[in-house]
Amino acid sequence: MAGTRSAKVRALLINPWIHDFAAYDMWCQPLGLLYVADLLERLGCGTTLVNCLDRTHPSLHGWKAEGGWFGAFGCGKYPGEVIEKPAPLAGLKRKLRRYGIPLDAFRREIAAVDKPDLICVTTLMTHWHGGAIEAIREAKRLFPATPVVLGGMYPTFCAEHARRNSGADAVVSGGSFREVAGAICGVLGVNGDGLPGGWEGIKPAHHLIRSGAAGIVTSWGCPFRCAYCGSRLIHDSYVQRPPRDVADELEWLAREGGRRDVAFYDDALLVNAERHFLPIAEEIITRELYLRFHTPNGLHCRYMTPEIAKAMRRCGFRTVRLSYESSDAGRQIRESSGKVTDDEFIRAVGALKSAGFESREIAAYVLFGLPGQEAEEIRRSVRRVIDEGIQASLAQFSPIPGTSAYEEWLAASTYSREEAESEPLCYSCSAIGYRMKSGPDWEGYESLKNEVRRANLALITRADKTRTAGAAGAGAPI
Ligand code: SF4
Repeated sequence: MAGTRSAKVRALLINPWIHDFAAYDMWCQPLGLLYVADLLERLGCGTTLVNCLDRTHPSLHGWKAEGGWFGAFGCGKYPGEVIEKPAPLAGLKRKLRRYGIPLDAFRREIAAVDKPDLICVTTLMTHWHGGAIEAIREAKRLFPATPVVLGGMYPTFCAEHARRNSGADAVVSGGSFREVAGAICGVLGVNGDGLPGGWEGIKPAHHLIRSGAAGIVTSWGCPFRCAYCGSRLIHDSYVQRPPRDVADELEWLAREGGRRDVAFYDDALLVNAERHFLPIAEEIITRELYLRFHTPNGLHCRYMTPEIAKAMRRCGFRTVRLSYESSDAGRQIRESSGKVTDDEFIRAVGALKSAGFESREIAAYVLFGLPGQEAEEIRRSVRRVIDEGIQASLAQFSPIPGTSAYEEWLAASTYSREEAESEPLCYSCSAIGYRMKSGPDWEGYESLKNEVRRANLALITRADKTRTAGAAGAGAPI
């Protein structure tokens, strides 16, 4: 049990397993659930978190001993157990696994919890519904009379499926504070009059998580409208937190929370940087917060300036990801809502390099697996990135119901609408290429991924050699 506070009303929070064909912990924390925990604590509830994705869980000591489970900057592999595949994906040549703590460990952990008055379950990805459904089933076995509220990506994008199949008593779609708070207050039978008006009025309950890393969000939503992205369906407007609040949270993580790595989960961290990101960076420097920062969601190239890049370097950013997506100018405008051009991409890389970032610290996302996208377009985009001296990171397309790219994907696949919508695991990016009428198949994508790995390795090797030669040259007697 990662954390408990005693009070009359008790809430059990569950971050469920991942049921998928692949999973890797890249600062993957249930931030939304931690906000809900704070909300509950403000309502006077005691909170207990059962975190199925806790890689430091005592039940996993055996896994740790085998080595290789902990990578750089607090990331790493999840242990997983093979489970049965659902019928629409039966022919996929990959194993479906339950990633996270063993089922027995979960059962022991919830059996040790005092009977809760409310159970809240989150879902970090739409197609990770299987883990949530399993967790709800297990929790209901022990606490049949306790109401379960389900939130996160799965009920946001597959609301009807969640209502029919999840076993939850209440399902919350979208990221609106008012709706989440309303559902919780409704189930608890309390009025939320004293609550703040939005997420920016509360703080995530990081104390419930046992980890050397943390996720943080400084803004919700995104001003862009990309055809393949569900951001606007989660938050319909773009809201930024006051920079001092963000700095206070970072200070807690650094000084009391014992964290070393912090990942920004923002969709649009650099928008309005003069009044948002730059003041946050200034606070980090002034308060001497020695954290390592990461941007797994990708930054907008357009907003990267030499000043921002220098501030990022000074305050300790260690992995920087840029959103490039594709070198195809038509796709940049059509699907990526004109958020990036090649010129903006080149300028962003130049600013980061001038600030001192090295090739191994910067990567740009290249989208792959979009309906109708040919392998050659992906190769061209990857070459464009590597030519700028940074790594290419393939971002696998995952169809999101409610977006126009989802409709294109459905039309380009052999799934009927009923079949796809009966099984959200069909949306897994790890099943990419499976059951598509044309374009690369799953094995084709795997070989493309290997090509990109080799190209990145060659780039890093060249960059390391150049740096070593430069250092030797600098030290050589004249
Ligand atoms: S810029 Fe990023 S977060 Fe914003 S809509 Fe496009 S893909 Fe989504």
